[in-house]
Amino acid sequence: MRLLNKLKALLGGQTPLPTIEASSLKIEDVGKMLRLLDAMPLVEVTCDEVNEVLDEFTEAAVRGENVAELMPLIHQHVQKCSNCQAKYLALKRILQAMPVA
Ligand SMILES: [Zn+2]
Repeated sequence: MRLLNKLKALLGGQTPLPTIEASSLKIEDVGKMLRLLDAMPLVEVTCDEVNEVLDEFTEAAVRGENVAELMPLIHQHVQKCSNCQAKYLALKRILQAMPVA
């Protein structure tokens, strides 16, 4: 979450950036910055954080909810972390095997 705070500060938090004048920003630089931001995930969650909400996440997924939109960070982590993905798939199998309450 540190990165997010940094971004918030950059994008007009209480910390102005006296060293950068908007007029001195070149459009190429802005493009470069945007591409950089686009290329990296905004916030990383840890396996621990995923573990905490994995049952909630999986239940929503089993209910057919759009978890990619509901919990994008968790979804993103589960997509690329084989550990959490294995746990998610196992949990999903269990939930799907249970009769709907
Ligand atoms: Zn993980």
